[in-house]
Formats: sequence, C-alpha cells, structure tokens
Amino acid sequence: MNVADSQRVAAGLERLGYTPATRIKDADIIILNTCVVRQQPEDKAVGRLTQLKPWKERHPEGILALMGCMVGTREANTLRERFPWVDLFLPPSDPTELWATLAEQGHLSEAETLIADAEARRLALSRVDTVLPLSEEGQVVSTYIPIVLGCSHACTYCVIPYRRGAERSRPPDVILAEAAQMAAQGVKEITLLGQIVDRYGYDLPMFENTKEPPLVTLLRDIHVIDGLERIRFLTSHPNWMRDDLLCAVADLPKVCEHIEVPIQAGDDEVLARMRRGYTVADYRQLVARIREFIPGASIATDIIVGFPGETERQFRHTYDLLAELRLDKAHIARYSSRPRTVATRQFQDDVPEAEKERRRKALDELQSGILAGLNARYLDQTVPVLVEGKHTRKDRWFGRTRTDRLVFFASEDNWLGYTARVRITWTGPWSLIGELDTEDQGQDSGSLMSACSSEAL
Ligand code: SAH
Repeated sequence: MNVADSQRVAAGLERLGYTPATRIKDADIIILNTCVVRQQPEDKAVGRLTQLKPWKERHPEGILALMGCMVGTREANTLRERFPWVDLFLPPSDPTELWATLAEQGHLSEAETLIADAEARRLALSRVDTVLPLSEEGQVVSTYIPIVLGCSHACTYCVIPYRRGAERSRPPDVILAEAAQMAAQGVKEITLLGQIVDRYGYDLPMFENTKEPPLVTLLRDIHVIDGLERIRFLTSHPNWMRDDLLCAVADLPKVCEHIEVPIQAGDDEVLARMRRGYTVADYRQLVARIREFIPGASIATDIIVGFPGETERQFRHTYDLLAELRLDKAHIARYSSRPRTVATRQFQDDVPEAEKERRRKALDELQSGILAGLNARYLDQTVPVLVEGKHTRKDRWFGRTRTDRLVFFASEDNWLGYTARVRITWTGPWSLIGELDTEDQGQDSGSLMSACSSEAL
C-alpha cells in the first residue's frame, strides 16, 4: 500500500517538474512514508526522521514531509510537537497538503495551481492521473493499485483501522483507467490491494444489484486490458472468500493462482480474542476449497505469535496446523502492542519477548522445511517466469512464477518485462534457480482442470 502511495506522490511531483534526486543532500523535497503495523517499523521511521533533521537545518527552504500510517487520521498535532523540524504531516494515500503547500510557495505555474484548488483536490482521489512516474516507465514490470482504502474490521491487535480510516472502495472506472495507463507504460502485472480486498465494491452504489462479488466484475474488466499479463489481489479475509471469487481466479487466465489469506493463529480461543470472526475448522475448509477450485493454487498466510495470553498449548495448535496445511508462504510476526487497539487496552502483553522470538523461530524453521519440500517439486519442471529485473551482483535475471516463487536465471538477452520459460535446476526454500528452456518458449497452456462448474459461476 505504501509503495503504491509513494509512486503516486512521485508521479504527482514529476508532473510539477520535479525529478528524483539520488542523494538526500541534492533533494528539495523529502517525503518519508511510514508503516506502524508493528513497533519496529515505527522505531525505524523515528530514526530516519531524526537523521533528516540536519538536512532540514541546512535546507530551511526545503520541504520535509512525514506521510502514512504514522500520521494516520489524527496524530498530526502530537507529531508536530515531537518533530518540529518536519514541515508537513500527510495522512495515508492523501498528499493534498503537499500540493497545497507547493502552490502557496509559488512553486507551481498557474495551470498547475489547479491541482491545489479545492475542487480539484476533492476530485484527486478519482482523477485519472499518471500513477507510475514517467522516470520509471518501462522499468516497472509489476506494481500495485489500491482498490479498497482503510479498514473497518477492527481485529483487536491491529492499528490499521485507526490510521487508515474506515473502509471505502475506489470507483471501478478510476481503477480501470489507472490499470490501462499502467499497461500502456509497460506494466505487465498488477496487484490489487485492500486490507480485505474481497470486500471490494460492497459500499459502491453501482454494484448494489450485482450478484457476483464486485471484485469478480472488476477482475473481468481488468482482464481485457491489452498488455497486462498477470493480475493478483491481496489481502483476502477467510469470511469473504466466496466460491464464485475462487472460480473467477480459476477461470480467468491472467489472474494468478495465488491467494493471500491470513489465518493469524491456529487456535480458536486466540482467534476469538483477536476477533477474526472464523474458527480453525473454517480456515481448514477454506484451504480445501481453494485447492479444489483453483488447480495448482499456492496459498500464503500471515501468523502472529505471542498474542496476549497465548499459552504454549495454543501456540502448539498453530504449529500443528501449519505443519498440517503445508501452505506456500507464511509471514510470521511477533505480536507488537499498538496504541489504542482493543488488545492494548484490554489485554496484558504478557508473552515475554524471548518467548515470542522462540515461537517465531520455531514456525520459521517448520515453514522453511515445508517450503524446501514444496519447492523441490519444481525441479526439472519448466515454468513461465515474468522477469522483473536483473540482479547486478549475481548477474542473473529474476522474476516470479504465477505461484509467486522467486526464480533466477542467467541470459545475455534483455528479458525485462518478458515471460521466460525456465527449466528449474536448483530449489531452496526461498528461491529457485534455472536455465532458459530453449526448446519450450511457447505459451502456458493452462490445461489443469478446475472444479468450477458454470453453475458455480
Ligand atoms: N489486512 C490484512 C493485513 C494487515 S497488516 C489482514 O487482514 O490480515 C499485515 C500483517 O501484519 C497482518 O496480517 C498481521 O499478521 C500483522 N500484524 C498486524 N498487526 C500486528 C501486531 N499488532 N503485531 C504483530 N503483527 C501484526
């Protein structure tokens, strides 16, 4: 979400004539975008802000802006006192004040001042702008489009609803225009973003009478955009992953068979205290449904260890579940108490840090064993890899399979943005290595059978 927000700000600045500076000391404007989902990234942001103080002292005319979840919807005043050398405090996905400031300072020509005009500002969210900076055109193969802003679910551990505000969907025509423009700028893969992305559109009047989930309609409409080759979406919530959405993933060739659906804990009591709204049995069934409906699907999950009150036995349940499900990826985090959340107000953060770390490591080791096993199945297979860049030190191209595996291969040719067919010669838990399959550079046939019937759709 932050990458997407930053890209939009960069593109806006570029329209006003700014160019990216490679060194901080050459910059006229510095915007620090922040994530505060855990304490660690917040501490890092504070560290960076402190490091930037001398820059501001040397460039009093420069603009230093803090953006994102650290600012949230109502933290600006507190932050202003704490960091007086920061000029602007911009909420997530909303750089309006930056445009207004640039206009006031006379940085903008008459026409450009329009951007700061109140009406234009109101429209800014729905404007069809260049969202990918021109300086990055042709370089960015895979990028993001936020489709649902904010979140209204209020999981007890999570600060996001307090910082990104209530859930609201962006209009489909704006999303489609952005996707088309990105495709015209050379983007091949788009990931649609939302905290609960499968809730997309339920708040929009144009979808009131649609039977299928609005996300399915949106996926279909994006699907026809020329030039785009892959579409992904994240993050899903178990309660909102309807069968017709799974079938759409199976049916639409550009939509990758990869689902990111966090479980957070493998114990019903912990899940209830997290207020996730489902049980372990529900999640187990969902995994079975995903595997039934989407042939070859890879599934990623998120897990929090050391949630307040999590006993060794409850943690074991999570461990055993992860061992049983053999998922394709698990982002594992130690619980971090966040301001104003229900968990912080009502529960004791009582699992010691060392114990949280022990649990995290145990899951990490389990999962890397599972991944080593799952990835070994790719050995000697030829897979389509959408190439995203070249690792200069290793002198290898890298990209991902449709199932989100990172693949490296060597070639003298320029593969950026192309789909290479790579025969896998080495596999590890975190990446695969292969060589170009020169005999088989045809299109992927997608011959796997899906359990979706036309009725399900
Ligand atoms: N909206 C998504 C993702 C939210 S943030 C969802 O439905 O889950 C990404 C991940 O950060 C979460 O899935 C969760 O695993 C982790 N996370 C969120 N709050 C956290 C906290 N207070 N401590 C530790 N991890 C947290």
